[in-house]
Amino acid sequence: MFIILKRKSIALFFLFCATILFSGLLYPLSQSTITSSPASALCVVLDAGHGGIDGGSQGSTGVYERDINLAITNKIETLLNNMGISVVQTRRTQDGLYGVFASGFKMRDMKERKRIIEESGADLVVSIHMNYFSDSSAKGAQIFYKPNDEVSETLATNMQNFFTKNLENARKECKEGDFYILTCTQTPGILIECGYLSNPEEEKLLISDEYQDKLAYQIFCGIVAYYGLE
Ligand SMILES: [Zn+2]
Repeated sequence: MFIILKRKSIALFFLFCATILFSGLLYPLSQSTITSSPASALCVVLDAGHGGIDGGSQGSTGVYERDINLAITNKIETLLNNMGISVVQTRRTQDGLYGVFASGFKMRDMKERKRIIEESGADLVVSIHMNYFSDSSAKGAQIFYKPNDEVSETLATNMQNFFTKNLENARKECKEGDFYILTCTQTPGILIECGYLSNPEEEKLLISDEYQDKLAYQIFCGIVAYYGLE
């Protein structure tokens, strides 16, 4: 796959430039060239964490992680689609994937995510979450990568660098993450904790449309880099 991805695609480069120029999102990319296979061959699973009865963490404003996760995956999907990169989302509504709410719903929800990833044939999985900690001073976006997987680690490292340069509070280093969504299939993947809803200042950022755009754009840049920015 990587041999194919290394081939320069001038057309994709110009498409990429056009996306940057016309999207109105003029955050700088640190690299200036792109190599890739035809974009139509590329596919990413975007996984908005939680859903339905499982709201995930909750901020002091009452906002649930579930809803911010979906807002951000929708923004990333738009950016990727503009580049011609296919997206499969594990959920597109506020509902969970567990069917009827009953005992064992969380595992049913996760197994359904696994099925979607496997059937997608995607190149990678990007799972979006919000963090929470008892100490409200904890803050900063951080990326976790599939354990013992070099491809996922490289993706996470590069994307974390984009975060550190361009996002308030972002952590400096990514970490290995033993999460089911990352280990349930062979597909390379990362789980992004976008920030802490337990930190009122960071919660303000995370619920703002402007910051969600900024965050989505950095994630988009990291994915594009995975597909061949050098
Ligand atoms: Zn979560």
